[in-house]
Amino acid sequence: MGRVLIIGAGGVGAVVTHKCAQVPGVFSEICLASRTLEKCERIRKEVREIEGVDIGIEKVDADSVPQVVALLRKFRPDIVINVALPYQDLTIMDACLETGINYLDTANYEPPDVAKFEYKWQWAYHEKFRKKGIMAVLGCGFDPGVSNIFCAYAQKHLFDTIKTIDILDCNAGNHGHAFATNFNPEINIREVTQVVRHWEHGKWIETPPIIEPKSVHFSFNYPVAGPKESYLLYHEELESLVKNIRGLERIRFWMTFSENYLTHLRVMQNIGITRIDEVEYDGKKIVPIKFLKALLPDPASLATNYTGKTVIGNIFDGLKDGKRKQVYIYNICDHAECYKEIRAQAISYTTGVPAMIGAMMVLKGVWKGNGVFNVEQLDPDAFMEALNRYGLPWLQKDFHGSVG
Ligand code: NDP
Repeated sequence: MGRVLIIGAGGVGAVVTHKCAQVPGVFSEICLASRTLEKCERIRKEVREIEGVDIGIEKVDADSVPQVVALLRKFRPDIVINVALPYQDLTIMDACLETGINYLDTANYEPPDVAKFEYKWQWAYHEKFRKKGIMAVLGCGFDPGVSNIFCAYAQKHLFDTIKTIDILDCNAGNHGHAFATNFNPEINIREVTQVVRHWEHGKWIETPPIIEPKSVHFSFNYPVAGPKESYLLYHEELESLVKNIRGLERIRFWMTFSENYLTHLRVMQNIGITRIDEVEYDGKKIVPIKFLKALLPDPASLATNYTGKTVIGNIFDGLKDGKRKQVYIYNICDHAECYKEIRAQAISYTTGVPAMIGAMMVLKGVWKGNGVFNVEQLDPDAFMEALNRYGLPWLQKDFHGSVG
């Protein structure tokens, strides 16, 4: 039995709150806090209606360490699930350190003024968390998150050596809008417009961003979804997996994008509306990408009419008992089914369910440790079982062929 504080009342925060409410034996008290109290109120009503559970809500600006500390002292949670934005990771970690409370998130820190996400800022907290005797679990959504857990599971049970890993993320859904992002537009666009990197033989190899003519892409035949153009993309889990998976020779991340999405993104990039620096408009300073976020649909609102499925998983190539082995482990999630269950779309759902499961692993003492951990450093078995039980069943099959 534990007390959980969820920070961030967006699409993912709503899913985490519902899923925690579905497991009252583990999450005995739930508090949802965010910058806009009305969003917490809307989720509180929905959770009462669908799950029959009452939660507490609070207003907090998580950019302020004193505000988060005050909230932690008032609510006294056993764990904080941070599903606000990556910009708040360090302030929330500072507040957890000050109050001695465990921490979990789904996205690594990036500074607001540079579109560069790296683990170095959060890894630097390891000693402080260790000395304080508390645990920080980093990147516990789907990717990062389940994609890392699949690697830990493959390393533990399926291979003697994993030589290559390809993580393939396909959203074959349709939300009916000309252009929308499936999670926070600002964070999403900053991520997908970056120079691409993958890791091969100990080195990071750079290739052009997905909107450039020379971007790297190929058509992959996804289970259920069929063939989809998949683009090489840099994703944060690559940085920790190259350290934690033994004997790895190459790791890449691929994501599907439609020509329609890429055309919109190219135009937005060309006219400068994805810029993250301040520009002067009408005597005021505005950041174009923040203005763009205000125009685009709220990711949670996409859920109502979303159809189709996501297919996200990893292809491993390596050795077992001296023989070559290839395995594909993946999950299929249906947007409309997520809506039926908790009024969410599948991207928020596939992120929020693992965050709940990660917090459950810490509260039950299955995941133990003092310091800062990426999820592949923790035991995958109970987590893999919980995925099947709490809405993200996974499949494993032999794979034959090549990727890319
Ligand atoms: P949303 O934009 O829908 O929600 C973010 C929420 O955080 C909003 O309610 C927002 O408040 C709140 N927030 C922002 N700043 C603050 C602040 N300073 N203090 C308190 N609350 C704040 O985003 P999503 O729900 O789509 O995404 C949430 C997180 O999940 C992101 O970090 C994203 O990167 C991550 N993610 C991870 C994935 C994975 O698989 N690992 C996949 C998808 C997302 P307000 O409403 O006032 O703006």
